[in-house]
Amino acid sequence: MQAQDRVKPSNQKLPIGIVGGGIGGLTLAIALRQFELPVVVFERVKQIAPVGAGISLWPNATRVLHRLGLLKALRARAQEIRTVRLQTDDGTLLSQTRAPGTFEVPSMCIHRADLHQVLLQALPQSAVRMNQEVARFERQIDNVLVEFEQGNTLSLDALIGCDGLHSVVRSQVLGVRAPRYNGYAVWRAIARAHLPEHADGIGTESWGHGLRFGVFPLDESRVYWYACANEPMNSPDSPSSKERLLSLFSSWHPPIPGLIDATEEAAIIKHSTFDRPPAKTWGSGRITLLGDAAHPMTPNLGQGACSAIEDAFVLARKIMTSGDIALGLRAYEKERLQRTTQLVNQSRRMGNIGQWSHPLSIEIRNTLMRLMPDALGDLTQRKIFSYGK
Ligand SMILES: Cc1cc2nc3c(=O)[nH]c(=O)nc-3n(C[C@H](O)[C@H](O)[C@H](O)COP(=O)(O)OP(=O)(O)OC[C@H]3O[C@@H](n4cnc5c(N)ncnc54)[C@H](O)[C@@H]3O)c2cc1C
Repeated sequence: MQAQDRVKPSNQKLPIGIVGGGIGGLTLAIALRQFELPVVVFERVKQIAPVGAGISLWPNATRVLHRLGLLKALRARAQEIRTVRLQTDDGTLLSQTRAPGTFEVPSMCIHRADLHQVLLQALPQSAVRMNQEVARFERQIDNVLVEFEQGNTLSLDALIGCDGLHSVVRSQVLGVRAPRYNGYAVWRAIARAHLPEHADGIGTESWGHGLRFGVFPLDESRVYWYACANEPMNSPDSPSSKERLLSLFSSWHPPIPGLIDATEEAAIIKHSTFDRPPAKTWGSGRITLLGDAAHPMTPNLGQGACSAIEDAFVLARKIMTSGDIALGLRAYEKERLQRTTQLVNQSRRMGNIGQWSHPLSIEIRNTLMRLMPDALGDLTQRKIFSYGK
């Protein structure tokens, strides 16, 4: 953005409050500070623990992270992804896309804790207040009054709900509604392993009958993997997640059973897969939503965090170009609603197809995937990855 296009909001006296210090909230704080806007992030946990598995960041997100000056630090901790292969459960290639490696910025797989650390390090300590759980807010004439579970209150210039799938800000703006369960669980973990077949930035996803398994290298000695299986919501694993996954994937192609075997039970994280039907609005006045609070999506496109990162940059830019907080927030929503609605719907469709379990549907699906020219897959991905170019 050119300097002459910047119009610092004339009506801003107090900081902008960001609820949630996840990937979306921290990126937003960095973007707003880059435009010299005062911000404060409220995070409910006392300390951000170095947990979690891997996460893929595609060019639409790394483009923003580059603009925020973070790409070098991220690159030093991440594995670039250049090619993604789709395979069957016996390892037969169905299709491959090289789109991830063909942009001016890289695609990458990184440990979530590393991504969080890079984001946190880009902010002064005073910008992130831990152990501050937002309970509710109240709109006032020129500001927003926020109440915390800890008993304190604070006046802010605006409030951006970046508080994830079960957002309290969203509940107050759009009403309390349970998220939508998609019929399958996802397990994720990092295993100690070196996979020469994944050298040169190759990631794979293998599809079976109601089961999927993804493998992405993190570095020379660590591999991020995930698995999906159809099951009722919040089902417990018995006797353990590792045993369950070993029994589901024992006959799959290498390195899958070996990777599960090489993973410690404590490192396996399991989630039921939720999203929400796209909303038509995310706020009014000095309130809006961002990231999973606004448009939670299934993980099938690897775009949940990427789209939160896109949101953050657009929101900061819209505030700066409109010169008024409320107008800036509406301009942000206008730009982001269509894009994120498409991602939510596409991600859900892709998950549904990937989780098919009827043998005949799978035969047809796999034949079509094999016949589909790789260029078509490239084209679909390029459309998503080109955003903000
Ligand atoms: C299995 C799986 C794999 C995924 N893989 C990818 C991937 O490869 N690439 C990708 O781009 N995305 C991926 N995603 C999606 C991605 O994880 C999310 O979209 C992303 O983390 C959303 O970030 P967020 O900041 O909006 O929300 P969150 O990460 O949920 O952060 C919300 C924060 O708000 C805090 N909070 C909540 N309530 C309050 C409150 N009341 N007051 C204060 N703080 C509060 C929470 O403690 C948390 O820190 C995946 C998701 C899953 C489930």
